[in-house]
Amino acid sequence: MFTELISISIIVSTTAIAVVAFFIAKKWKKLGAEAVAALQTAKLDADEAKANLESAKIHGCIDRTRRRQVEAVFDVLRDSVLVVDAHGEILHANGCAEGLLFVAPSEAAGMPLADVVIDHQLVSTISDARCGLPKEGRQYEQEIQVGGETVAYEVHLQSVGHKDEAMHAVVTVLRDLSREREIARLKSDFVSKASHELRTPLSSISAYIEMLVDGDAADETARQEFYAVISTETVRLQRMINNLLNISQIEAGLMHIDRERVEFGELVERAVRNMTPQAHAKSLDIHTELASVDLAVKGDSDMLYQVVVNLLSNAIKYTPEGGRVTLSADAENLTHSLHFSVSDTGLGIAPDQTEKVFDKFYRVENYRRVAQGTGLGLNLCRHIVETLHSGQIGVESQLGMGSKFWISIPVGECSVKLAA
Ligand code: ADP
Repeated sequence: MFTELISISIIVSTTAIAVVAFFIAKKWKKLGAEAVAALQTAKLDADEAKANLESAKIHGCIDRTRRRQVEAVFDVLRDSVLVVDAHGEILHANGCAEGLLFVAPSEAAGMPLADVVIDHQLVSTISDARCGLPKEGRQYEQEIQVGGETVAYEVHLQSVGHKDEAMHAVVTVLRDLSREREIARLKSDFVSKASHELRTPLSSISAYIEMLVDGDAADETARQEFYAVISTETVRLQRMINNLLNISQIEAGLMHIDRERVEFGELVERAVRNMTPQAHAKSLDIHTELASVDLAVKGDSDMLYQVVVNLLSNAIKYTPEGGRVTLSADAENLTHSLHFSVSDTGLGIAPDQTEKVFDKFYRVENYRRVAQGTGLGLNLCRHIVETLHSGQIGVESQLGMGSKFWISIPVGECSVKLAA
């Protein structure tokens, strides 16, 4: 009986354990499946999140790249550019804007406009523009403080996006007008000087013609004198106009360049032969010192001749009677260049005027009565030597002690044709 009871109890407990075990197993199995499913879902979410992160990174990268590209475009502009967002913070300042800012342009992004831009008026102009601008923007001229100087700018303001949108920004483009104004000043200076210089021979020509017409010349000798003045002034006028044309064509880069071998020594001798009558008329002694080396250069024979004649003619004009003029030419192997100079024992030039004599229409005031001239000869020489033959021209002089005008041109350089 006892044995039976034990057997029954063993069977019951085993069955109970089996049932419990079954349920536990079932529960665990269920739990395990859920856990696996949950884990799988979590993994999928993580994968998706990772993919999203990667995509965001890529997009972020693309945005940054695009932004850098846009900034790089701004940076190549010669105008200053300031981009300000709806809250008045700098979004971008390009390299050119450096002079307008307290900080380097690369550090300006994210900073308030008023903390970055030096000129108060510009700050208020841009701030006002944030509240609204016409569709076509606004443009005007404004004087702005840059590095302690007042500079004239053309300011162009333009809105980007609607003013109620988060993306709204104001783009300010500032163009420095200094160079334009300087060019305008030079132009008007040039026109007034040119008209003054052209008027002088013209007035003289018209006055002498009028006297001839009125019968003011008493006899044939007087008439011939009047004709001579008219002829001289006409030649001067022609020379001035030709020089002006040649200078402006060289400045505009419109001269056609032809290379040819020029025997510089022969060119100097020809110039001396042609100018000897003028030199003799003033009892001047002309010396030629040509080095016994090859003095050939590649260039334009007519133009180089014009340079030699201009320098020689000036030396004759501005050297008092009995003086001496020396022309020297030599070639330097080391630098492959030819050196030529015209020295005189004449009036000389004051130190503050030695550079000015190469300017258009510049004439030393006191020498105007000494000789006639156009004030264009040396300027043309400078253009022929420096612009067209890549050489150099200069002068060494002492007031009352004479001058030495020199040129140096590369032996292998080229040339162009001038108006006759
Ligand atoms: P210009 O036709 O008046 O001579 P240039 O351009 O050749 O014009 O010369 C400009 C000015 O430079 C001259 O008017 C003169 O005042 C000065 N100058 C040029 N050459 C000499 C020189 N050898 N000695 C003294 N002054 C000179």
